[in-house]
Amino acid sequence: SLRNLGNGHGRESALQLFVQAKKRINDIFKDIDEYVVDAGKFVQGLSPELKGVGEEAIISPENAQVVVGFKVKIDGIREVLTRDHMKVVFFGRTSNGKSTVINAMLREKILPSGIGHTTHCFIQVEGSDNEEASMLTEDSNQPKSIQSLKQLASALSSGKLKENSLIRILWPKSKCRLLREDIVFLDSPGIDVSPDLDLWIDKFCLDADVFVLVANAESTLMQTEKNFFHKVSSRLSKPNVFVLQNRWDVSESEEDIDKVKQQHLDNNIQFLSEELQVADKREAKDRVFFVSARETLVSRLQDDTGIPTPDRALLPGFQARIFEFANFETKFEACISKSAVKTKFEQHTDRGKNITFELKKVMEDAFTSSNQHLERQQRLRQERLDELETLDKQLDLLSREVKAKIKVMVETVERKVASALNDE
Ligand code: GDP
Repeated sequence: SLRNLGNGHGRESALQLFVQAKKRINDIFKDIDEYVVDAGKFVQGLSPELKGVGEEAIISPENAQVVVGFKVKIDGIREVLTRDHMKVVFFGRTSNGKSTVINAMLREKILPSGIGHTTHCFIQVEGSDNEEASMLTEDSNQPKSIQSLKQLASALSSGKLKENSLIRILWPKSKCRLLREDIVFLDSPGIDVSPDLDLWIDKFCLDADVFVLVANAESTLMQTEKNFFHKVSSRLSKPNVFVLQNRWDVSESEEDIDKVKQQHLDNNIQFLSEELQVADKREAKDRVFFVSARETLVSRLQDDTGIPTPDRALLPGFQARIFEFANFETKFEACISKSAVKTKFEQHTDRGKNITFELKKVMEDAFTSSNQHLERQQRLRQERLDELETLDKQLDLLSREVKAKIKVMVETVERKVASALNDE
C-alpha cells in the first residue's frame, strides 16, 4: 500500500532527534534550576555579617545578588525551552499549492485550499494537547473552537482579518505525528500579492528552521520569489531552503518533459548554490523535488480514512510522484530536526554552561572563605588555649613557690620558737 511509502510509518522518525534533545535539555535545566534554588536558599539563610563586607563575610553582597539573579535567568530559559519547536514556513505564489502541500504533510485537510481561499494573513498550524481543534487570532487570547473546515474557511475569508496578521490553528496532536513531534507549519499569503517582505521576515521568519518554496512546475521561478529568498539569506546565515516543483502531475504528461525537468533542476540548483549560496551543488540537488501535493493528499486521505479516490484524481505515474513527496519529507525531517537542535539548543546550552560555571565559582569562593573563617577561629581558639595553659603553669609555679615560702616561713617560725624555748 502507498501508506508505507515513507512519512514515518514503521521507522523511527528523524524528528526524534529534536524531541529527545528537547526532553534532555529540559531535564538538565530542571537540575540546574534546583541547584540555583539551593544556592539561593543558602545565601538567603546567611546572617548579615556573613554576607556583608566585613572580615567575617564569606560571600560578597555582589555575589549574593548574582546568585539570586541566576534564578530569574534560569526561569527565562526554561520558559523559552518549553515553547521551542521546529518551524517550517512555506512561500510561493498564490495557487502554487502551499496549503495543499501542508495538508498532504499533515495527512488531513486542515487548511482551506483552492480558488477563493486566498488570504492575506499568515496561518500557523501547531499541535495542541486538546482533543478539539481551535483557532487563535492576534486580537484575543481566547481560542475559538473550529467545528469544521467550512467554518474555518469562512472565518478566514470574512475580510475582518488584518493584513499580515497571524492566525494560529491549534490542532489535536493525537491526530498528527508531525505536530506531535513538535513541528509548527506556517502558510504565507501569496508572495505575488504586494507583500511587505521585510515585515514578513522580521515577524515570521527569524525563528524558522526550514523554508519551503512551493513553485509551480509549469513556469520558472519568478523574480519576486527569488527576491524574497535573497532577503531571507541576507538576514539569516545559510537558511535551509527546499524547492518543491509542484503540480508535476499536470506537467509530466507533456512532450519533452525530461528536458523541462532538467531545466528546472539546473535553474533551481543554480539559484540555491550560486545565487543564494545556501548549499553546494550536490546539496542543492537534494533540495529540489518534483511532486504533486494534490495526488499525495488524495491518496493519503484514501489510505487513512478509506475515502475513495475520486476519478481522475491520480494521473498516470502518480506512484513515482507520491514516492518523491515522501522522499522530500524524509530529507526535510532530517534537516529540520538537526538544524533546530543546533540553532535552538546550542545557545541555551552555552548559557546554561555559563550559569553553572559562574555559580560554581561563587559557591567555591564562599566555601574557601568559610574554610578560612573556620581556620581563623580555630587558630584563635588554639591561641587562647595556649595562653590559658601558660597561665595555668604560671599559677602552678606560683603556688608551688608560695607553698615553699610558707614552708620556709613555718620552719623559720618553728625554729625560732624552739630556740626561744631552749633559751628559757
Ligand atoms: P496556495 O494558494 O498556494 O495555498 O494553493 P492551494 O493549496 O490553495 O492550491 C490551489 C489549487 O491548486 C487547489 O485547487 C489545489 O487543489 C490545486 N493543486 C495544489 N497542488 C496541486 C498539484 O500538485 N497538482 C494539481 N493538479 N493541482 C494542485
